[in-house]
Amino acid sequence: MRITKKNSPNKYNGRRGWKPDMIVCHITEGSYNGAVSWLCNPKSQASAHYVVAKDGRVTQLVDLKDGAWCNGTSTKPSSKVYYGKSSLKAVRDRRTNANYYTVSIEHEGFWKENKGKLTEAQKAATIELIKHIRDEVKKIFGVEIPADRAHIVGHYEVSPITKPHCPGENFQFDEIIKAVGGSSVPVTPNAPTNTNDFKVGDTVTVKRSATKYATGQRIANFVKGSKYKIKQLGADRALLSGINSWVKLSDLEGEGGTRNIIKVGSKVKITGNKYATGQKIPGWVKNGTHEVSRIAGEKALLGANGGINSWLNKSDIKVIE
Ligand SMILES: [Zn+2]
Repeated sequence: MRITKKNSPNKYNGRRGWKPDMIVCHITEGSYNGAVSWLCNPKSQASAHYVVAKDGRVTQLVDLKDGAWCNGTSTKPSSKVYYGKSSLKAVRDRRTNANYYTVSIEHEGFWKENKGKLTEAQKAATIELIKHIRDEVKKIFGVEIPADRAHIVGHYEVSPITKPHCPGENFQFDEIIKAVGGSSVPVTPNAPTNTNDFKVGDTVTVKRSATKYATGQRIANFVKGSKYKIKQLGADRALLSGINSWVKLSDLEGEGGTRNIIKVGSKVKITGNKYATGQKIPGWVKNGTHEVSRIAGEKALLGANGGINSWLNKSDIKVIE
């Protein structure tokens, strides 16, 4: 594909030892030419690896070997872009600046226009560009970026507090992922999905026992016990309409009452006496705390990495955090 090259000074030299395995999509909130020139201006202290125009033109500003300054996360818990606030498990687990291990693509557009929906030419260019990036990253780093929703993500998933609308609710993630040969169904543990439990549009009640938002602020009393619709979902949190705040899934209940929400990464206690296979669970296993490493239908695999590595029925475990 044809890519115009420019050199932005706003970048890291190298990636501090990290290899890129995630592609983060953005919206420019400006014109193509404006974005290219601003992201090359030292005053902006911002950049992206690529900018894709509405008509399909592509400019590269930062080499893939280097980290761009596009979706940085902070290691300070008090920061609005603290990695711990991300809805992506990988970002939380890596405990560092997401710019080190991501490739970023800016897309010309304004969120107000159509909430991040790409034009046909722009979508086609992005699909070609992602194929190109995956080839290049393979060549340079020997890393295969998985074509799935856990590795082709939006800025809103990296920094939900500061960038809830980047690139926008209508950005065509699923179409793009399918077109690059992947599955739009999240397949890895850092997948930002809760499809087993809550869905966008569900009406939920904030539990009376809830004390803090996912972002750490105190939940006001009038919010507790009130009903809200889910606007957006992260791995462990939901953005509620009306109050426009992220609440931990463990602090929500569905219309039918409290649900025991079990997902990959959940810490659980065992309440039943038997494994899903029917064998009796020994006491030392029962008394422990386990992490869910996989979910399949009504079963959950506990502690695959160094843990008990056993399947249990979801009805026999209880989430503790
Ligand atoms: Zn962004």
